[in-house]
Amino acid sequence: MKKDTIIRFSRPDFEIKKKHLSKSGKDESFLYGLFSKAKGHDNDIYICKQLILPDDNELKNQSPVSIEPDQKYQSVAYSLAYGQGLTIIDSHTHPFSQNAGFSGIDNHHGTKNAKYISENFPESTTMGMIVFGEGFDNFEAQIWNRKKRKFESVNRIEILGTPTTILVNNKQSRKQKINEQYARHLIIPGWDQGLLENLKVLLCGLGGNGSLIFDSLLSLGFGSKKGWIKACDPDILEKSNLPRIPYAYPEEVGCSKADIAQIHANNRTPHLNVCCYQKSIEENEILNIAKEANIIIGAVDNDGARQMLNSIAARYSIPLLDIGTEIIPQDSIYEAVGQVQVFIPGQTGCFVCSGTIDPCQAAMESMSKETETSYEKAGYVRGSNETPTPSVLHLNGVTSHLAISQLLKLLFDDNFKGTEFLHYNRQKTNLLTASISPNEECPVCGVQGYLGSGDEDIENALKDLSDLKNNAEFETAESSA
Ligand SMILES: [Zn+2]
Ligand SMILES: [Zn+2]
Repeated sequence: MKKDTIIRFSRPDFEIKKKHLSKSGKDESFLYGLFSKAKGHDNDIYICKQLILPDDNELKNQSPVSIEPDQKYQSVAYSLAYGQGLTIIDSHTHPFSQNAGFSGIDNHHGTKNAKYISENFPESTTMGMIVFGEGFDNFEAQIWNRKKRKFESVNRIEILGTPTTILVNNKQSRKQKINEQYARHLIIPGWDQGLLENLKVLLCGLGGNGSLIFDSLLSLGFGSKKGWIKACDPDILEKSNLPRIPYAYPEEVGCSKADIAQIHANNRTPHLNVCCYQKSIEENEILNIAKEANIIIGAVDNDGARQMLNSIAARYSIPLLDIGTEIIPQDSIYEAVGQVQVFIPGQTGCFVCSGTIDPCQAAMESMSKETETSYEKAGYVRGSNETPTPSVLHLNGVTSHLAISQLLKLLFDDNFKGTEFLHYNRQKTNLLTASISPNEECPVCGVQGYLGSGDEDIENALKDLSDLKNNAEFETAESSA
């Protein structure tokens, strides 16, 4: 399969860029951005890390048909890219063109600059160009391949956050016919079925909550064109799961939850691109798939996996939606709660700074099987196999569909802030919302964090994460002794 090349922006970054590039009205406009790189499962992704806005006097020859950066502005951008090993992508506009494409002059200058960078910059650095047409809803883009010494087309630009937009290269976009099956969606004001069809969604967890989310994603028609639905769960179906996975049958007990979901999708929505994996998020293949996702949904039952998803979302600028339910026995009655929260990189705080992940619990939950068993024997691990947690379909139903509703708001609704943390309480029959704002001090999404850093230093980061886990295990062991 031929690789796609993808450029990704967070919505706030793209808005800054668009505002800057629109400022000059009828004249062409120009700016540099620095991009980190991620090698996904099938494709390469360039993630916007920093925009470098020029002052008005840093552009030359600005007219409706031409634009050029001045030497000083160019050298600032180049030296920042050189120092950090990032890719430089310049963007300019063709304000009168509804199908923007590079001119001969664009290509001439671009090739000259790309060759200069190949010859003088560290190997991880290359150069790309984007030209936007009228309204910023059409583009052409290319990135220089240093080995092949030529430009390669960028297939899509992803603007992730609220609202989410997927733009397909002008060279490839054709008017796409909408499936009649979704006719009732199309008449909902503000609905964008085309976006759902081109979106790439990763769902982690195919248990009680995950299976309901999975079925909803199929019903909504995610991934029927250039998008996909991918889902992962390492577990097999047990008899006690049957009451909560609506598409699972008694004869499938012992099969993997992933296989059962795949069979269901093949039967119910054969027109969608769906792939389910019997793997966990910690496996490399799933990590590489996650990098390519436009939205990640976590329906996992532990804070260890939640922490991992939070890091991936921050690093690759991908919105993350998390769902959790819990039934807490209280004497002869029970308390049932469901929670839905989102992390939109660049827009909201993450799960670490909002305090919704307990780092100690996270470490306990991502410990090795062996350690886990010894802890279980001592009665430390909540919800382990020895002490199954109570669970029931209707609580998962309420919470999963709240999550789907938040997901659609995130994708479509300009006014969605993403800071709402939803908490459903069965006992009181109410829905509490709490607001979570970004925190500059956060080690993940704050100024010293790693928002948008892509694969940069990924091996060390993964090692740090496992060191942290080991240390936490050690401390926990001491304190419980
Ligand atoms: Zn041009
Ligand atoms: Zn944070």
